[in-house]
Amino acid sequence: MKCFCITFFGLCAAASAAWQAGVAKADITPAESVPLAGYGGKTRMSQRVEHPIWLKALALKDDSGAISVLVTADLVGLSDKMIAVIAKNALEEHRVPRERLILNTSHNHSCPVTEDVLWLYYEFTPEEAAVKDRYTQMVYAKYDEVIGKAIANLAPAELAFEQGLAGVAVNRRRSRGAESRAFGGQVDQDVPVITMKTGTDPKAIVFGYSCHTTALGGLSINGDYAGFAQLELEKSFPGCVAMFVQNCGGDANPLPRIRGKDMEATELAGMYGKVLAESVRQVVAGTMKPLGGPLRAAMGGTELELQPGIPLDELKQRVPNLTGMPKREFEHFIRQYETLGSPPDRVKYPVQVWQFGPDLTFIALTGETVVDYSLKFKSTYGWNNTWVCGYNNDLTSYVPSLRVLKEGGYEGVTGMFEYGHRAPYTETVEERITTKVDELVKKAK
Ligand SMILES: [Zn+2]
Repeated sequence: MKCFCITFFGLCAAASAAWQAGVAKADITPAESVPLAGYGGKTRMSQRVEHPIWLKALALKDDSGAISVLVTADLVGLSDKMIAVIAKNALEEHRVPRERLILNTSHNHSCPVTEDVLWLYYEFTPEEAAVKDRYTQMVYAKYDEVIGKAIANLAPAELAFEQGLAGVAVNRRRSRGAESRAFGGQVDQDVPVITMKTGTDPKAIVFGYSCHTTALGGLSINGDYAGFAQLELEKSFPGCVAMFVQNCGGDANPLPRIRGKDMEATELAGMYGKVLAESVRQVVAGTMKPLGGPLRAAMGGTELELQPGIPLDELKQRVPNLTGMPKREFEHFIRQYETLGSPPDRVKYPVQVWQFGPDLTFIALTGETVVDYSLKFKSTYGWNNTWVCGYNNDLTSYVPSLRVLKEGGYEGVTGMFEYGHRAPYTETVEERITTKVDELVKKAK
């Protein structure tokens, strides 16, 4: 038995010693008042900075020499256009291939609007649009900078993984009045954590949670509860970069929330951040499993089919009676009929899988993925060695499971127009994603 233990730990040490890792952060706090992202309706111009917001990157080089980079962001999301710019730079400037670049956003609702993300939400004056464009250019430059710096910082390191729990997330579909009480209360309160150490102290802590960053919705720039959690951890571990990954929080909110009372709401968001940070601290203080290499990366895509949209005649008939976002949505569909023949009948859906040796399967999905996907894939591939995150790539739409689609409501049905899609997905949505994930998990093994 003793012999086995020595061999076992010897192997683990050899596996972890093969990593080189580097971490970096770049401040993306706007220098001027900017339009705030994430909520439709009246444009909210920022009035103050509660705390800075960040891009953070972890570069990992395994013993095959391949470099992979995870970038997290205190942003609401990215668009296809933004992904194309960032990924092109990463490849051309830093030789990071697309499948080895994961771009996650915290889905922060207290950050500036960038490029064309959620473009149907907003109606900007030319001045506001110019502010947004200036900010977007800064963000592109910072993505380039943070990826480059993380790679430049590569040094021998050890990685470890474990999970904790935190009770902040509540299934928000149940919070919309009497009729919503029949909706399921599913949540994923796991807090997966990866630490990167080059000595005894962590240099990077990557932690995830499945919950909208919507404790706040005032006029300040901040990272919401995830920003507070990152700050708290960076205070506890001086010199460490804490990175938040949004998991499958499409149908979860931090609840309760306080609306219209900015200061009290900030205090509450801070408390949620402290709860999450405490869970991470307990994981880091406990025994974590060494994470071995190599890191095998697989990327592919499927197409999610949409139900039929509203006929052109009907759109034209109804549009004069509409204002605001519904009007912009209908005008968008009319333009699609005029330029494309009809609004597209499907949506591109990229999926990425990173397999860390035999120890961890990291599944990165696209868009506002609901909790069922996290629970499902952890059940399929292992509760103790699977991390599932949404909010990567394009913030394409809510991504309902078959259950959520059939139940209806905002995340399954009524939210689709806001993302420029003609109708809800068909009942093949979950099956299509599951098939692609399965294929890529096998490929990356
Ligand atoms: Zn959302």
